[in-house]
Amino acid sequence: MTVNRRKPLSVEENVRQRASRNSGEMFTRCADFDWATTPMGPATGWPEAIRSTVRLMLASPIAMSLWCGADYTLLYNDAYRHIIGDKHPAALGRSGAKVWEEMWPEVESQFDGVRAGGPSVSVHEARFMMERLGGGGGEECWFTYSLTALTDDTGAYLAVVVVIADVTEHLRARAAFVSESARAESILESMADAHFTMDADFRMVTMNSAMERWLGASAADFLGRSHWEVFPNLIGTVAEANYRRVAADGVEAHWTQHYRDDVRDCVLDIDAYPAAGGGVTVFERDVTERTRAEAALCESETRFRAVHDSSPHGFALHRPIRDGARADGAIVDFEVTYINAAGARIVGLIPDKMLGHTMLELWPNTENEGVLAAYVRVMETGESHDMELLFEHPELNGSFALTIVRVDGELAITFTDATNRLRAERETTRLLAELTVERARLAYVFRHAPTFLAVLRGPEHVFELVNDSFRRLIGDRPVVGKPTRDAMPELRDQGFIEILDRVLENGLPFIGREVSVMLSRTADAPLEERFIDFVYLPLVEADGSRSGVIAHGTNVTEQVLARREIERLYVAEKEARAAVEVAYGAADAANRAKADFLATMSHELRTPLNAIGGYAELIEMGIRGPITSDQQNDLRRILVSQRHLSGLINDVLDYAKLETGTAQYDLTNVAICEELTIAESIVTPQARAKRLTLDQTDCSPLTVRADTEKLRQILINLLSNAVKFTNDGGRIAVTCATEDGFVVLRFSDNGIGIPADKLEAIFDPFVQVKPGLTRTQEGSGLGLAISRDLARGMGGDLRAESTPGMGSLFILSLPSA
Ligand code: ADP
Repeated sequence: MTVNRRKPLSVEENVRQRASRNSGEMFTRCADFDWATTPMGPATGWPEAIRSTVRLMLASPIAMSLWCGADYTLLYNDAYRHIIGDKHPAALGRSGAKVWEEMWPEVESQFDGVRAGGPSVSVHEARFMMERLGGGGGEECWFTYSLTALTDDTGAYLAVVVVIADVTEHLRARAAFVSESARAESILESMADAHFTMDADFRMVTMNSAMERWLGASAADFLGRSHWEVFPNLIGTVAEANYRRVAADGVEAHWTQHYRDDVRDCVLDIDAYPAAGGGVTVFERDVTERTRAEAALCESETRFRAVHDSSPHGFALHRPIRDGARADGAIVDFEVTYINAAGARIVGLIPDKMLGHTMLELWPNTENEGVLAAYVRVMETGESHDMELLFEHPELNGSFALTIVRVDGELAITFTDATNRLRAERETTRLLAELTVERARLAYVFRHAPTFLAVLRGPEHVFELVNDSFRRLIGDRPVVGKPTRDAMPELRDQGFIEILDRVLENGLPFIGREVSVMLSRTADAPLEERFIDFVYLPLVEADGSRSGVIAHGTNVTEQVLARREIERLYVAEKEARAAVEVAYGAADAANRAKADFLATMSHELRTPLNAIGGYAELIEMGIRGPITSDQQNDLRRILVSQRHLSGLINDVLDYAKLETGTAQYDLTNVAICEELTIAESIVTPQARAKRLTLDQTDCSPLTVRADTEKLRQILINLLSNAVKFTNDGGRIAVTCATEDGFVVLRFSDNGIGIPADKLEAIFDPFVQVKPGLTRTQEGSGLGLAISRDLARGMGGDLRAESTPGMGSLFILSLPSA
């Protein structure tokens, strides 16, 4: 497929082509016309500008005519035929002035002006009386047209180009509309607001006299003309957009617009409404003055705000509120009509919270402070007033310095936050008072401090102040006003004055602990040793210089001495303890040696004793020969003594065993009842001999964990003691019970009893109560000692209770099986 690409045509070529293609009537007529008969001469001789314009004109659908040369030889196109009516075709090639003879007087000057090089002329809806249909009499026609000069390259005049539109029909239709609205117009006429209507093409159809006045011309000059022609300055503005919108969409529009042209410079409030037939009805109000006033107001308001809002001081305007109910209209409150930013900040509110509110609403308590009264006074007298206020309310807290001035029936209040200044003043006063009190307190503390204090001034360390404690330390000598060297000469060689020099020189404090100092209570008294904890502090003045030394400390002599004594005692006690331990060791060793000795001795004694007993029995039995009855009695005594001695030795041996810790316990479960029966049977003969009753509760279910032999030894010992130390006819009782995992046996008698101070001693070896008196009761004094050791050795215990003369109670406890 091939594309036929043609070169784009120039406008002229285009027109020529169209002309040739679409050759209308006028094209033919122009081509056929014998132009040689006209002042223009043959067409071949026409300037190129004329030729090309003619070509353009003939191709145009818009009514156009060309008025050539000085006599305005007329050429026109097809559309123009309608304009001239019956004057066609005769008009071609004739002088336009002649063709338009009836109208020429009205337009001649326009043509001449353009020909003479004046500006183009554009005329809107001009009314002519024209004879274009023959028959004479003329016809009312309206034309909108323009006249433009056609010149050659040198600018020389060639012709006048006329582009024209016939608006007669249009205006007639509009006139009909206007007459219909005449009634409305009369009303509109009387309006102060300017009013006009436009048709759908925005031609001015009506206007009232107010509009005429505003335009400064009569309606006739404008009616029928396009609004844009009358107000070219409105093209492209909001007005054009709004008018078009009202016309097209049938909606209302209201706006304010600044309008400026050569003669007017104003601001308009415009209301536009849709009118019948797609037109627009417009009302305009000149609001220039009002706007200007507003602008001026705004400007002054802006300036006012700018000044006050940038001010660091608070500024407020208050409008008085009067009591309408009272005849005198007394001021009862003030409304905040303005407050600047600083002001709102100072009172701690935002401006919006304050504006329109009254003082009493904002600060119900201000009345109490007399503020309202002051405001009212200024308002009534006009005399400015300064005041300083302190508020201490939750909603308003602080101090304020106010200047109140009356301006134009309002109060102008300038105020600053004086809180900090007033607080500072108060604080200073308070601090001064506190300082005085503090000084007095300090002086008191200084004087009566339990620690010593002295203030020493200058390089000579002159005593300036000393307190009571210091006086007590040094023996109440008059030292104040004297240099240390002279006041306390005994210090000279003790190093203290050198330390004072150093502290004053380098400003570093010196701390001494339990320092020994030799002091004399009076000038000629002997020196005494004192111990002190002290600190020398440099005395620094406000300017940083060092003017002296403060000596501060405690007399710790007593503590030091007490501690030394404690230390001495401690050493002594340690030594004593060591000695005790040595002695204890020695005693222990001696004890063991004794027990060993006893064990050996007992054994050594038993052997010959057994031999004595054995041989005595042999003789007694008559194996060595017959013996006399006297010999028999002697032998019996020998045997009794031998048995007694043998028993004693056995006891000693047992005890020795317990002492040396060599006793062996063979623990088994033992039925207590059986062992009691055995033990009782052993003491029964002695009990019978003394006619004693022996009671025993039933112990059958109780079993203990014990060594049978040793348990029996304890029971026999306790029962035989009871028998021994109970007088004839007495009573012995044994009870048993379980208590806390132990079987507890109680042996009670109503015998002689034991004194309280002997209750423990009887458990010591070889102790017997009043042995001299009880010699009749044989014994070693070892029985209870052995019994308790055995009971304890088996995890139990033995103790005694007694009332002398009433009887005794022995309590044996052993672990339950
Ligand atoms: P002994 O009976 O061999 O003298 P004990 O050690 O058994 O030695 O008793 C020590 C002492 O306790 C007795 O000498 C006696 O003075 C006193 N004593 C022991 N039992 C009783 C008792 N039931 N009533 C009074 N005194 C007693």
